[in-house]
Amino acid sequence: MHEFHLDPTFRMAQQQLDDVAQLMNLDSGIHERLRYPRRSIIVSVPIRQDNGRTKVYTGYRVQHDQTLGPTKGGIRFHHDVSLGEVSALAMWMTWKCALLNLPYGGAKGGVCCFPEEMSDHELERVARRYTTEILSSIGPEKDIPAPDMYTNERTMAWIMDTYSNFVGYAVPGVVTGKPVQVGGTEGRVEATGRGVAYTVLRALERLHPKLESPTVVVQGFGNVGSVSAKYLHQGGCRIQAISDVQGAIYNEQGINIQSLMTHVKQTGSIVGFPDSEKIDASDMLELPVDILVPAAVANVITEDNADRIQAKIIAEGANGPLTPKADKILIDKGVFIIPGILANAGGVVVSYFEWVQDIQRLFWKEDEIVSKLNSLMANAFDEVYQLHVEKGVDPRSAAMMLGVGRVAKAKELRGLYP
Ligand code: NAD
Repeated sequence: MHEFHLDPTFRMAQQQLDDVAQLMNLDSGIHERLRYPRRSIIVSVPIRQDNGRTKVYTGYRVQHDQTLGPTKGGIRFHHDVSLGEVSALAMWMTWKCALLNLPYGGAKGGVCCFPEEMSDHELERVARRYTTEILSSIGPEKDIPAPDMYTNERTMAWIMDTYSNFVGYAVPGVVTGKPVQVGGTEGRVEATGRGVAYTVLRALERLHPKLESPTVVVQGFGNVGSVSAKYLHQGGCRIQAISDVQGAIYNEQGINIQSLMTHVKQTGSIVGFPDSEKIDASDMLELPVDILVPAAVANVITEDNADRIQAKIIAEGANGPLTPKADKILIDKGVFIIPGILANAGGVVVSYFEWVQDIQRLFWKEDEIVSKLNSLMANAFDEVYQLHVEKGVDPRSAAMMLGVGRVAKAKELRGLYP
């Protein structure tokens, strides 16, 4: 056994697969194959620092499964990056892509470093050297990275440039999340938040069609939280409370999201927004609202506070905001949880559109992208909802059963090589 098999996050990902395998009576050979990543790459990333010294970082790229197509997943620069965590995240990407019917398997990568303490030049050298070290394993037909924690569209442009220089011509399709000027797509920035809002509004239609002006709490006002709030507000919801890393604000009548976005642009935080009162950020999660959208960090709802959550619907904008124990408590209370592999899949869906446009050299307008995104999100939501109703399983299990089931079926059809 490799030591990363003992990593708690990887064990959790495997356990989730084991549970769903049992629920769906998965073939034991296919189950065994899905429990491990197909390929794990560990590289040294030496760079020359601005002070003239040389420093070596460790980089990883894990490709979990390539049955349905090339692998897809983010690259993060963070001091917590480890092989175990990256392997778990890669596995989750496999289920997410399959659930959304994207022709991809899951991957994830990262470099273990302290990006906050590094200059732009150092970050660029890390990105380029890391790309060089994993170059033979990535490409539009093999594995397509994207931004993640502490990487962004500029990082993707560097990766695309490094790869293109090696092969000798421009290959925009090697990464997604690029600037539009080098083959990025319209609609990528808002994609995840749009998807979150879309699944919530669809859940409301199914579960509480008569609810007027449903009330919402959003944790986190970054990319995912702010865009989710914007489109939920546009969809007729009343956003009563929002938090960010600095605090939380409340207005019973609803917060004006557009004005709040302007306030955040000017001040850097939601705190101090006129037309709202300050409240305690952890109490905020327990407000008596219809919808709760955790869109900040992992493990915010645990066995300690799950019992006090009053929302009827929880949409996981963030990855892993609910611990498995909290999940169970909330399911027993009858809360409808839209799991992250569905709720926050809008980002990878529009990344897929970016890759398709890059390959075709034909670019779409934003309204076309939004309508295609909504259609894929609607399909996935309806399939999850139907399985949830028909089989009496919670939506997270239903989503996993669909994702795992699609990969398993493809594996069965392709057989085991050689
Ligand atoms: P971001 O950095 O843009 O925003 C994070 C927000 O959370 C900020 O407002 C920050 O102040 C707030 N925050 C941080 N710690 C907090 C805390 N303890 N309590 C309350 N607020 C806190 O990040 P993002 O891109 O919006 O991503 C948010 C989550 O969504 C992450 O878990 C990410 O993995 C997940 N996600 C993002 C995407 C995407 O496309 N951006 C896609 C899928 C999943």
